[in-house]
Amino acid sequence: MERRETDVKETENRSTGKLSNPQNTIQVIQKHGFAFQKKFGQNFLIDAHVLDKIIAAAGVTADDMVLEIGPGIGTMTQYLAERARQVTAVEIDTNLIPILKETLSDYDNVTVINEDILKVDIKKLAEEYNAGKPIKVVANLPYYITTPIIMGLFESGVPIDNITVMVQKEVADRMQVGPGSKDYGALSLAVQYYAEPYIVANVPPNCFIPRPNVGSAVIRLTRHQTPPVEVKDRELMFKLIRASFNQRRKTLLNGLNNSPELSFGKEQIAAAIEQLGVPAAVRGEALTLEQFARLSDLLGESR
Ligand code: SAM
Repeated sequence: MERRETDVKETENRSTGKLSNPQNTIQVIQKHGFAFQKKFGQNFLIDAHVLDKIIAAAGVTADDMVLEIGPGIGTMTQYLAERARQVTAVEIDTNLIPILKETLSDYDNVTVINEDILKVDIKKLAEEYNAGKPIKVVANLPYYITTPIIMGLFESGVPIDNITVMVQKEVADRMQVGPGSKDYGALSLAVQYYAEPYIVANVPPNCFIPRPNVGSAVIRLTRHQTPPVEVKDRELMFKLIRASFNQRRKTLLNGLNNSPELSFGKEQIAAAIEQLGVPAAVRGEALTLEQFARLSDLLGESR
C-alpha cells in the first residue's frame, strides 16, 4: 500500500517537474553545470515525503509569509510557494540564482535574495512582506551555521511564529533535552528559553544529494509568547550558562569563578549557590533553566 502511494507520488512529481523527484534534480543540476560547494553545506533534498512532513509541521497557511534560508535549487521553495502567501528565500550562492529563476518561474509569490542570511536584516523583511506580523521560518539549513542562524533569529527580535528546520540529528537532540542527558548544554537552554522544541522526524542521508555523512532531523521550534522563566538580566543568565558548560567537568563554582566573562568573587558565587539550595559541588549540567534564572538574579543582586 505504502509502496503504491510512493509510486503515484513519484509519477506526479516527474510529470510536473517537481524537484523532489531525484531525476529532475539531477537533470537541473546537469543542465546548468552546477557544482556543489561543500563550504556552503549544500545537500539538496530529494524526498517528497520528507518535504511534506516539513511543510505540515510548519503549519504553513495561505496567510503566511515564510522565510526560507538556503533554497538551493528551489525544491522546498516550490512546496512552500504552493501553500504560503509569500515566500522570501535567502540564498548565498550566486551560481544558484539563475537556476532558481527557472525552477520558480511558475510562482509569483516568491522573492529570492542573493545574500548571506547572517547579514540580512530579517526584521526589515518581516515588516516589508508581512506588516511586522510573526513569520514562519522553514529551511533545510546549511549545517555549518545552524546555531548562529537560530540564535540570531531568536535574539534579533524578529517576530516569529515557528522555526521548522532540518538540522544535524545530534544538534536536534541537543536542542530538545533537559538536565541529566550528556547532550544537555548551552544550546538546549538557549533554545528552550525562546521556544518549545519538538523533533518531527529523523531523516537518513539517502534523502539528499549529495548524501551528508551525518544523520539529520526535522525540528520545530515554536516561539514562546512569553519566556518560560522570569529573569532580571537575561544577558547575565546566558553568560552563566556559557561559563558553566565551557568547563563542563568542573563544578559550577569553579566554572563561574574561572570564566573571563564574569567577575564575581568565589565567596559571592558560593553564597549564591547555597541560596539556590543545591549542593556546593554541583555541576552546571545539573541545573534547570529555572535554576539558572534564579542563580542569575541572586548573583545580580549581590553585585
Ligand atoms: N533548501 C535546499 C534543499 O532542501 O534542497 C538546499 C538546502 S542545503 C542543505 C543549504 C542551502 O543553504 C544551500 O543552498 C546553500 O548554498 C545555502 N547557504 C549556505 N550558507 C548560507 C548563508 N550563509 N546564507 C544563505 N544561504 C546559505
